[in-house]
Amino acid sequence: MDKVVVSKFGGSSLANARQIEKVRDIVRGDVKRRIVVVSAPGKARADEEKITDHLINIATNGSHFRDQRINISPSDSRDAVVKRFSEIMADLEIEEQDLVDALKHDLDTDLEGDKRIAFLASRGEHYNARLIARFFEQSGMNARAALPEDIEFRVEGHYLGARIHESSYAHLAKLPETPGIIVIPGYYGVNLEGEVAVLSRGGSDLTGGEVAKAVNAAIYENWTDVSGVFEADPRQIPEARAIPRLTFKEIRLLSCKGFNVFHLEAMLPCKEQKIPIHIRNTNKPREPGTVILFERVPEEGIVGIARLDNVAYLYLEKDLLGEEAGFIADLLRILEEFGIHCYHYPTDKDDMAILVNQDDLTGTINDLRRRIEQTLNPDYMDVVYNLSILTPVGLGLKGNSYPIVDSLRVLGDAHISIEMMDQSPSQICFHIGVQQAVADEALRILYDALIG
Ligand code: ASP
Repeated sequence: MDKVVVSKFGGSSLANARQIEKVRDIVRGDVKRRIVVVSAPGKARADEEKITDHLINIATNGSHFRDQRINISPSDSRDAVVKRFSEIMADLEIEEQDLVDALKHDLDTDLEGDKRIAFLASRGEHYNARLIARFFEQSGMNARAALPEDIEFRVEGHYLGARIHESSYAHLAKLPETPGIIVIPGYYGVNLEGEVAVLSRGGSDLTGGEVAKAVNAAIYENWTDVSGVFEADPRQIPEARAIPRLTFKEIRLLSCKGFNVFHLEAMLPCKEQKIPIHIRNTNKPREPGTVILFERVPEEGIVGIARLDNVAYLYLEKDLLGEEAGFIADLLRILEEFGIHCYHYPTDKDDMAILVNQDDLTGTINDLRRRIEQTLNPDYMDVVYNLSILTPVGLGLKGNSYPIVDSLRVLGDAHISIEMMDQSPSQICFHIGVQQAVADEALRILYDALIG
């Protein structure tokens, strides 16, 4: 049997009937697109909320939106969910009453606590898969919905942060054996007790990755509303292009340093099986997108530059610090205790720095300083705020120091002061810290010198 393509469509690709028609046309465009994984409908308009958020708002009796200072009651959320599904189905002219009745029945569940939140949160994907399968059939395609409840898509762990259970792979592997197109709702599964549990938020990507792994897909397509991974944030560098090919390692370095692409965990199952991931735009299906591969031969030095803002630099000096093995471990433990997210820690013989998310320091910095002083007794400690880290990434950097030299030269020529600089252990990226106030200018200069 030929390998199948697994195609995952995100919320913006499914927000209304017009978008779902585009999805149908894409799926029809290649007979290998046999498995379709869907999210819940996303925001139909910028000022609307996602269906999943409305569902969580219902489940939490309004506290989900209240906590974000959004003024939508649980009953308004209920109306919004029913209205949106009814509208989509009416616009697609599909038989709807039974699905709307089943949805209303589910919304009245008497489950409680986290089980309730998980069950309700999953209904966006559940009903979207059912309606999309119905729409495909009505469009003359051989399609069926395959619900986690029916195909033994088993998960384990917490109701609101479950992970796939090993036994699921064997069940999912059988899916392509039946002819036709299979539509699977993302984001949730059922535990060994048969109860619904959801993966983490944005988890439909994860479902897609796991399904691709289970069926050993030819490719995992991730359809979204952007045309791939860009060389730099297009809001700052309007001429930045989508990067055609990237390795898993490169996208990790670009993503964790400020690139917002898709659920990173979703890559792991594909990486394991060496299944390429193709990020594509539902609204511009002719655009080539970005393919993420296990390996590639680089033709260029730098593929992209990530930018991370709101970074604080915690600097510590202590004689012989570098010789004291426990110092860094103790410091990291203290930061963990304070819930502070660390990005990076350059160290030397008698001093070290830790780059942290400065938002995590709000309200805790004085206690943190005191704690560090008491436990580690540094000779000197300082915190520098409002830094941005710019990270040029590219496999071609290995053994080629010209991009580093060029970066320092062009920034120096522009009198931009470099607050920190180092190369990653893999040698396929380097980090340059600058004051956030000059980060736009620094990014522009680096882009022009290294990529543009
Ligand atoms: N609908 C879920 C969420 O909004 C999962 C997803 O879209 O991937 O988080």
